[in-house]
Amino acid sequence: MKLIRVLLVLMLVFPVMVAEAAHALARLYYAGRKEGYTLYALSAYRSYATQKSLYTYWVNTRGTAYASKYVARPGYSEHQTGLAVDMTSARMQMGLYASFDQTPEGKWMLQQAHRYGFIVRYPKGKEKITGYNYEPWHLRYVGVKEATTMKQKNWTFEEWWAER
Ligand SMILES: [Zn+2]
Repeated sequence: MKLIRVLLVLMLVFPVMVAEAAHALARLYYAGRKEGYTLYALSAYRSYATQKSLYTYWVNTRGTAYASKYVARPGYSEHQTGLAVDMTSARMQMGLYASFDQTPEGKWMLQQAHRYGFIVRYPKGKEKITGYNYEPWHLRYVGVKEATTMKQKNWTFEEWWAER
């Protein structure tokens, strides 16, 4: 019953997030809660217009070089696929920072996300492959089987794609 309520809330907040990914996100959330780690999901789905204004904002405030390392150009963000979600916690004051991986919630999530079908899309040390700086908060739904393979082999999405 509770899960259904959470799903309904997720559907309201993220209307275009793919249903399967939204369901997996709810399962990840409850598994964390059960172990004492409360995670929050931010900006799961973004429209083209939202992505455009986000990108323009960072170009205007920090320049193109900075913006291109942290924010996808409109039309290129995984958040437009409805499969990506940014995770945070109260300890991070709902912000997105690399130090999330040093918190109990972040550590738990990095270890467990694959069991619910999520990968950390832009891992540390793989910046040259992904083209993005390390983002421990950005999860992408790929399914349990694929996420587990990528986790075990320490593959990025790109490496998995090349090997499959
Ligand atoms: Zn993200």
